[in-house]
Amino acid sequence: MTLEEMDKKYVLQTYARNYVNFKSGQNATLFDEDGKDYIDFTSGIGVASVGHGNAQVAAAIYEQVSHLTHTSNLFLIEPQAKLAKKMVELSGLDMAVFFGNSGAEANEGAIKIARKYGQNKFKNKRFKVLTLEHSFHGRTITTIKATGQDSFHQEAFSPYPAGFEHKSQIKDIYSAIDDETVGVMIELIQGEGGVQAFDKKEVQDLAAFLRSKELLLIIDEVQSGVFRSGEFLSAKLYGIEPDIVTLAKGLAGGVPIGAVMTKHKDVFKTGDHGSTFGGNFLSTRAGLEVLDILESYYKEGFLGASIEYFDKKLQEQVKNHSDIFLATTGIGFMRGLQCANGELVAKIIKAGFANGVLVLKAGRNTLRFLPPLTITKEEIDEGFARFEKALGSI
Ligand SMILES: *Cc1c(COP(=O)(O)O)cnc(C)c1O
Repeated sequence: MTLEEMDKKYVLQTYARNYVNFKSGQNATLFDEDGKDYIDFTSGIGVASVGHGNAQVAAAIYEQVSHLTHTSNLFLIEPQAKLAKKMVELSGLDMAVFFGNSGAEANEGAIKIARKYGQNKFKNKRFKVLTLEHSFHGRTITTIKATGQDSFHQEAFSPYPAGFEHKSQIKDIYSAIDDETVGVMIELIQGEGGVQAFDKKEVQDLAAFLRSKELLLIIDEVQSGVFRSGEFLSAKLYGIEPDIVTLAKGLAGGVPIGAVMTKHKDVFKTGDHGSTFGGNFLSTRAGLEVLDILESYYKEGFLGASIEYFDKKLQEQVKNHSDIFLATTGIGFMRGLQCANGELVAKIIKAGFANGVLVLKAGRNTLRFLPPLTITKEEIDEGFARFEKALGSI
């Protein structure tokens, strides 16, 4: 039985999977079982933030798990406390953290905080959370409902929980706020929806309005967070102070982790929320090491420099292939190339793979680039050289 046959027989087939068998990686380069190498412009959908095979993270994880992997949240977890402190310091916001295991779970936590805040704060309980079209907030029943894409709201999984409504644009949110609305949850740079960054002024106006009404601004930074935007939080780029921030993907470099941070530190009381695995020694020790690497990378200007270089390469693509690419989108290392049509996106991904460079799709017609934040100039050059070859082959 081949591995592909095994996968197809024993794994539930929920993914349109490419059956390449990757065996190892080194920063932004992956190697398959035949030794063929690929420049990875996807970092496992924004997860391998410090690249593949990172020796510093591997050593920290090994050291940690050789002593302790898990004891439960009934006891103090040293790296959890240290990681929370580090995240709060990097955010520059007066917040506290709850740890889970995924982005969806982080958003579930955010919604629970919002609903309890809505009960505590107002005479008539407020519980409704407004979200935006083309958003993506996760795959649990609740976060599917929060996701503003009808294609996710399959009848088969209904009934969905009440208390969510999605609006087409930020400006439509104001009139949708009623006496049941407790807050708004948005990505500042929509990822899955097509790598679209919102206008700064529009977001700032919304933030000020919500604050004036004591309603909550929840920023889903599951994809945009942990330096992917060029800052620890994209909220900083936007000059806003959210009530709640959710993080996951890049936070522990590939070890499953999710986090909800909030300045409303006293909403959750003992017993209100929990997670068996959330914040255990393995994931939080990995997270600490990832943040240690990324913080110095950021402070020493390497992150900013490689983001700038990558941007230059993307701009060249639009200039040189104006028949294929309409525009660049996104911010930092969360970037897109808008293509003339959706079929082109699929063709380029396939040709890219054949030529040894991995790229993703987002929305209907956008090629998405989420490279490891530690990608080198040489890897960027090699990746775009292969990308050129791929374009030439279609
Ligand atoms: C990936 C993603 C999620 C879901 O994260 P999971 O870890 O897959 O549950 C939620 N929100 C955004 C913005 C994401 O990009």
